[in-house]
Amino acid sequence: MIEAHALIKRYGDRRAVDELSFIVKPGQVTGFLGPNGAGKSTTMRMIVGLDRPTAGTVTVAGRPYREHTAPLCQVGALLEATAVHRGRTARNHLLALAQTHGISSRRVDEVLGLVGLADVARRRAGGFSLGMGQRLGIAAALLGDPAVVILDEPVNGLDPDGVRWLRDLLKGLATEGRTVLVSSHLMSEMAVTAEHLVIIGRGRLLADTTVSDLIDRVGVGSVLVRSPNGADLRDLLVRHGAEVTGVEPGLFQAAGLDAATIGDLALAGGLAVHELTPRRASLEDAYLELTREAVEYR
Ligand code: ADP
Repeated sequence: MIEAHALIKRYGDRRAVDELSFIVKPGQVTGFLGPNGAGKSTTMRMIVGLDRPTAGTVTVAGRPYREHTAPLCQVGALLEATAVHRGRTARNHLLALAQTHGISSRRVDEVLGLVGLADVARRRAGGFSLGMGQRLGIAAALLGDPAVVILDEPVNGLDPDGVRWLRDLLKGLATEGRTVLVSSHLMSEMAVTAEHLVIIGRGRLLADTTVSDLIDRVGVGSVLVRSPNGADLRDLLVRHGAEVTGVEPGLFQAAGLDAATIGDLALAGGLAVHELTPRRASLEDAYLELTREAVEYR
């Protein structure tokens, strides 16, 4: 469990993190989302004690990160994939970390296998691709078999195979009862990986909810309408407040009215309808709607 309470981080006169409170629960993957500059990395650094909050508190497994005597065994974090000694082999990098916590070399080989780096374990990390670097960072995070795993943009640099592997790994870690917090800007990936979302903008909490609740709440769903009287039906719907975007003359998307209302209006207007298909908003639609105000750079 991660608990942030009224967390504030100020840089100069600017609040990068502004009164942020949230709880990340075990047993599920929680996605940590927000536009660039929203304060995600700053928050993650405060969780693992790399940055000191200006005010407020954040605890991991019940206490501040710094107060854990064997932090690697409580919290595994990947915050910066390039933070490795470039001259060391992957295995030696992990062995050096393991020795600080009395972790066995057997566990080092185990996590190398788990992240798919067993074959390149004796190659220097400096020559690794971004994707291999991410895998090494994830291996380091898992080294101490921690109950809490925090990964900042772990999908970056992974190929489609790697993306799927990571998705299964994260879900597996959550199923084992661990607390998993992952930041990402890839909404389509978060939609299939995370169950819960913490979304921030300009350092403030915008949503702390499940993926499906967010989509329902912010819901900007639309209806695909097919009609041989396309132009007339379009005009009619627009007059009733729909926002219409065209696909082709007899086929368009209408937002702002549900399928039943559209069908009733068409009937009353004597216009034929050949198809009405409600389309649920995607996580990306809901996210963009929610964060519209909070985007730092447009
Ligand atoms: P995110 O990870 O969501 O993109 P960050 O946490 O990196 O956002 O940054 C949040 C805000 O804090 C940004 O406006 C950023 O410029 C600022 N910031 C981050 N780190 C520092 C720092 N060390 N000094 C000054 N400003 C910083």
